[in-house]
Amino acid sequence: MFIDGLDIVDKDVHDAIASEARRTDEGLELIPSENFPSKAVLEALGSVMNNKYAEGYPFFRKKDGTVLWNRTGRYYGGNRYIDIVEKIAIERAKKLFGADHVNVQPYSGSPANIEVYFALLEFGDKIMGMDLAQGGHLTHGHGVNFSGKAYNVVHYGVDKETNLLDYDEIRKLAEREKPKLIISGATAYPRKIDFKEFDDIAKDVGAYSMADIAHIAGLVVGGVHMSPVPYMDVVTTTTHKTLRGPRGAMIMCKEGLAAKIDKAVFPGMQGGPHEHAIAAKAVAFKEALEPGFKDYARQIVKNAQALADALMENGFKLVTDGTDNHLILVDLRNKGITGKDAEAALDASGITVNKNTIPYDTGTPWNPSGIRLGTPAVTTRGMNESEMKEIASFISRAIDAAVAKDEAALEKIRLGVKELASNFPIYG
Ligand SMILES: *Cc1c(COP(=O)(O)O)cnc(C)c1O
Repeated sequence: MFIDGLDIVDKDVHDAIASEARRTDEGLELIPSENFPSKAVLEALGSVMNNKYAEGYPFFRKKDGTVLWNRTGRYYGGNRYIDIVEKIAIERAKKLFGADHVNVQPYSGSPANIEVYFALLEFGDKIMGMDLAQGGHLTHGHGVNFSGKAYNVVHYGVDKETNLLDYDEIRKLAEREKPKLIISGATAYPRKIDFKEFDDIAKDVGAYSMADIAHIAGLVVGGVHMSPVPYMDVVTTTTHKTLRGPRGAMIMCKEGLAAKIDKAVFPGMQGGPHEHAIAAKAVAFKEALEPGFKDYARQIVKNAQALADALMENGFKLVTDGTDNHLILVDLRNKGITGKDAEAALDASGITVNKNTIPYDTGTPWNPSGIRLGTPAVTTRGMNESEMKEIASFISRAIDAAVAKDEAALEKIRLGVKELASNFPIYG
């Protein structure tokens, strides 16, 4: 019945997709939250698993909490193959992180976080999370976000001198404010996070502990960042960042919270799970369980450090003077350019980054003093330390060209970027 492909059915969308593929192939993707999943992941994502309604779970939970894996918990028929796939996804995720319980249904990172709050808290309860302006996430209690409106929020940030998390200050704040939940995890913090310390603080003040490892999940799997899973009550993560899977998320928790978390995801917050995304998550987890993924994670960090060193050699000032994860925050104030203009100049050169506030920024989120870079996507393409040096040089030249308003120089850099990228095809 459906025999025509996208090129026949919808030329406009087909052509835009082809152009996007060309843009990513010819450019350098340095946004730290982006990555290229494998063809196999994309194949599962574009499969018939998209078509099925599967409200409920691939297991049956009795009133007393006992889970029966041989009985379906779906509200719709026809789910035998869907159940197979979701069970595989759950099993692999548990193995990957050593988690007691995993829910693979969250549509994305933001709903996953809200689902955890919904499971553990009453509206109006006090939560404590990292300030967005200093590296936290919108869903960690920002005023414009649901989390900031439904809950009473206290924020911690980084130290003004070192720009590092100050665990003594965080402990003092927690002791004074007595939150019901302490959230750790960040979107723009270039250093390791001591999740055990966060969990200790939460336990000492009687709060639930939650880590949001959206950015660093792949590094945790690769053993290059401490895992929060052994300590924390709940851990959330996206699956599309360093974990290199489909756009989506999951929630891990201790056995005692499993029923509450599952109920908050469905029927609490979501309806039918996106089973095509769950199939793709299962594939990504299989890939991440392979030994090669650890090499990948290690190389992400090596590349980030090589890029950081080369940028500093080119006169750039980095927040915390370097990185020990996948991410670099550049403070552009000594370069005479704003984050917004730097993002635009780099975009014109084929290098994709995002403008970002730096801690204690006097600029606005729309026109901040920094840019944020990361190495997960270029590492997926097979680039290593020597390419990072070249990239730092491209960035440096592009910023100088932007300050000098030299468009011809930007075009020359774009051709150089294209040539470098052509040696590292993504899906070719
Ligand atoms: C990316 C991110 C999220 C949100 O994920 P979405 O899938 O964009 O909703 C949540 N928390 C942190 C720390 C993130 O970096």
